[in-house]
Parts: sequence; C-alpha cells; structure tokens
Amino acid sequence: MLWTCRVLCPQAGPSAGGWQPLSFDGGAFHLKRTGELTRALLVLRMCAWPPLVTHGLALQAWSQRLLGSRLSGALLRASIYGQFVAGETTEEVRGCVQQLQTLCLRPLLAVPTEEEPDSAVKTGEAWYEGNLSAMLRCVDLSQGLLEAPGPTGNILMQLKMTALTSTRLCKELTSWVRRLGASWELSPERLAEAMDSGRGLQISCLNAEQNQHLQASLSRLHRVAQHARAQRVRLLVDAEYTSLNPALSLLVAALAERWNRPGEGGPWVWNTYQAYLKDTHERLRRDAEAADRAGLAFGVKLVRGAYLDKEREVARLQGTQDPTQPDYEATNQSYSRCLELMLAHVSHRGPMCHLMVASHNEESVQQATKRMWELGIPLDGPVCFGQLLGMCDHVSLALAIPGQAPIQTLRLPSCQTLPDRSVVPVAEGLKPVSASAVCDFC
Ligand SMILES: Cc1cc2nc3c(=O)[nH]c(=O)nc-3n(C[C@H](O)[C@H](O)[C@H](O)COP(=O)(O)OP(=O)(O)OC[C@H]3O[C@@H](n4cnc5c(N)ncnc54)[C@H](O)[C@@H]3O)c2cc1C
Repeated sequence: MLWTCRVLCPQAGPSAGGWQPLSFDGGAFHLKRTGELTRALLVLRMCAWPPLVTHGLALQAWSQRLLGSRLSGALLRASIYGQFVAGETTEEVRGCVQQLQTLCLRPLLAVPTEEEPDSAVKTGEAWYEGNLSAMLRCVDLSQGLLEAPGPTGNILMQLKMTALTSTRLCKELTSWVRRLGASWELSPERLAEAMDSGRGLQISCLNAEQNQHLQASLSRLHRVAQHARAQRVRLLVDAEYTSLNPALSLLVAALAERWNRPGEGGPWVWNTYQAYLKDTHERLRRDAEAADRAGLAFGVKLVRGAYLDKEREVARLQGTQDPTQPDYEATNQSYSRCLELMLAHVSHRGPMCHLMVASHNEESVQQATKRMWELGIPLDGPVCFGQLLGMCDHVSLALAIPGQAPIQTLRLPSCQTLPDRSVVPVAEGLKPVSASAVCDFC
C-alpha cells in the first residue's frame, strides 16, 4: 500500500487577526489541469464501486490475461497508480515531490509491504532484513528529496513495525504485555538497553527461537532509527491491529527511550493513536503525561483507524468485547477529544511535543486550525497535517494555499509500473505548509 501525507500549518495565529476557517469548496482545484481532475473523478468514482474494490486483484489478473501485461500495466499507470502512487524509481518520486513542493506540500515516504501476516516467505530473517535495506534506502531518499527541509526542518517517514518483526512475535508479546502489565521483564528500558548494547536478551516468557527473533528485530529497529536520526528523518510508526498494538507500542517506547531523549532535537520516533478504539484517549493521556514526566520528547500521529471491520469481526469470532467505538459519531468525538488533548500538550511543551493531524475529515482539520490559533501554536511549529496522496486534494490544497496564494499550476506524478520493493520504496505523505512557509518553497 502506498501512502502520501500532506502536512501543513494553517494560516492564522492570534497575532494575525481573527481565525479564518479554511474553505473546502474545491476552489483550490484550479491548480490542477483538466486531465488530472478528470482522472481523479474517474478513479475516485471507480473506487467507490464496491465490486471493483472487492474483486480488484482478480480483475487485474483478468485484464493481464486479456490485454497482455504491457497494455494492462499502461492502463493501470494511467488510472489508479497515476492517482495514488508517487512513482517507481527515484527520479519519478523526485519529480512527484518537486511538483508537490510547488503546491507547498511535502512528502512522507512509506515502504510498501505485504499485508498478510506470516506467509511462508516470512518465516526466516531474510525477509525482514530485505525490508530493513528498503527502509534504510527510504531514509536516504526522504532526506535527499527536499531541496529545503522547510521551516521546522521536519523530514518524515512512515515505519511499519511488522515489516521488521513478525506478527507472530508481536501477538505473543501483546499477550504478555497484557498479562504482566508494567514489569521490568518487558519494560521499554530493558529493550532499549538490549538495542543499544546488542547483547542477547532473554525474556523468560518467550522461547529460544522467539528470543532470537526479538533480538534480531531490536537490532533492525536500532539500525533504522540510528540511520534516520543521522539523516534527520523522523520515523512515524503505524498503528495496526489491537492484537499487535501493545507490542508495537512497547517497541516504540523502547526506541523513544533512546532517540527521544532531551537534547536530541526529537521526537525522532512517533507512535500512532487510533481514535476509533475505546481506550485510546486514556492511553494517549497516560503516554503524553509519562513522556512529560520522563522529559522525553513525544510525537503522535493521530488517526481515526483503518481496521474497523476486521477488529469487529475478530471480536465477534473470539467472543470478546468489541474494542472499537460503537458508531462513527463516537469515533468523531473521540478524535476531537484526542486532538484537544494533544494540542494542549503541544501548547504546554512546545517543540518537545509534535502532532500530525492525519485525517481527511474537514471538521477535524477545521477544529485543529482553530484551536492552534486560540492556543497560539505557531504555524511553523510542531503541528502538521497528513493526507494520503490523491485521496483528498481539496483538503490538502486548502491547507497549503490559504488565501489562494499565487502558486504555479503543476502536474501530479504519472506513475510507472508496479513498485519493486527492492528498487525504491515509494508512498509518501506530504508536508504542507502555511502561507509563511510557502515563501520558503516558492
Ligand atoms: C497520513 C495518514 C496516516 C495514516 N496512518 C494510519 C495508521 O498508522 N494506522 C491506521 O489504522 N490508520 C491510518 N490511517 C488511516 C486512518 O486511520 C483512517 O482510516 C482514514 O484516514 C479515514 O479517516 P478520516 O479521519 O480521514 O476521515 P473520515 O472519513 O471522517 O472517517 C472514516 C473513519 O471513521 C471511522 N468510522 C467509520 N465508520 C465507523 C463506525 N460505524 N463506527 C466507528 N468508527 C467508524 C473509521 O476509523 C473510518 O476509517 C492514516 C491516514 C492518514 C491520512
């Protein structure tokens, strides 16, 4: 899966007169060419047609058989890939990013990895080492893409933990985290020490094979964080399923012990919080306060959550309580409360606390920009906004060009063949910017 985020700072601050609501009326589309708008309309309409989504892969295989792989590949590139993918090679991604920069948007690259857990190919360490190499290259690419890192100097990259450690181990760790609670045996400090020293770690509740894989996983995480820190790239760790998240959070906390320390200029490792989970607000409050007490920098990507149906299905099959909010409105309220909480922390802690409002929801974006203005959070400060490439241009562009600042028309990337993981990690996000920051780029 390829992601692109757009990160930006809204246009107003207490000193700049009153807060101006963003206009999501699509006015920003004048920046797009007619061909791009037509493609977007076509592709997004197609994606809203359930049979196409359900049988997408089968249809793709069928079109390859019927049209041949060259013609069917060209069709894909001109449609779905052209809309959502930044490119396959470094040059294509670079071209895409340059165009986004013209729109005052910035990228967040993500290495695409398989979704299905623990397939045969993933049984050895080689698969994870291959992913590590791709991630290290992605760090370099992220670092080299931007001509100017922007007013906050933020270069962001997505990190999917289950590309570096098995879901099987994460599930096992999750069950022990739940059973043991806050114990030294499975503490972030202990894992951080093992990451730093590279010395073999023996967790008594894991067997020898699991301990070995844990040690190899910690070593991979350490290497990617070390490289990202050296290249000044911030790592945003994805949230996944509730059967894995406690383990992922433990690993993030271990990385934070090392890389989010005061004086490091962090946070260099961020966690993701899913507002559709019932316990998220409480967990976010606890984690933010703990980071504050420990003097650690704290970075949060706030999302609603992407695995609603699967979470509910698993709960139903296992006869356990559904961990998700009962309805969309409850998720919205939860997102709003989490946003409020985080903006208060940003306002209190300044650059020690960073937030990405990762949402296409107009009300959430509006709420964030309004509260930032009320709290006096600077436009070029630690709050940014993220959207997926090609998913919600009217929101991204409205954030990026407040006041309809004169910006050149540009072309979004035309994407090439299906990405080869070993060649280039693609998928990004963008770092949108405010009117003031526009000057940095234009
Ligand atoms: C930059 C970026 C990074 C992301 N990273 C992650 C990640 O790491 N992990 C992850 O899980 N997701 C991630 N997502 C996806 C995200 O969680 C949402 O699925 C997606 O953004 C849609 O939510 P929204 O806020 O944009 O808007 P909306 O369209 O307003 O909200 C849709 C969301 O509301 C919730 N919802 C819908 N119906 C119901 C219902 N009946 N009951 C309860 N809740 C409901 C679901 O979470 C659904 O996805 C990311 C998204 C972005 C933009």
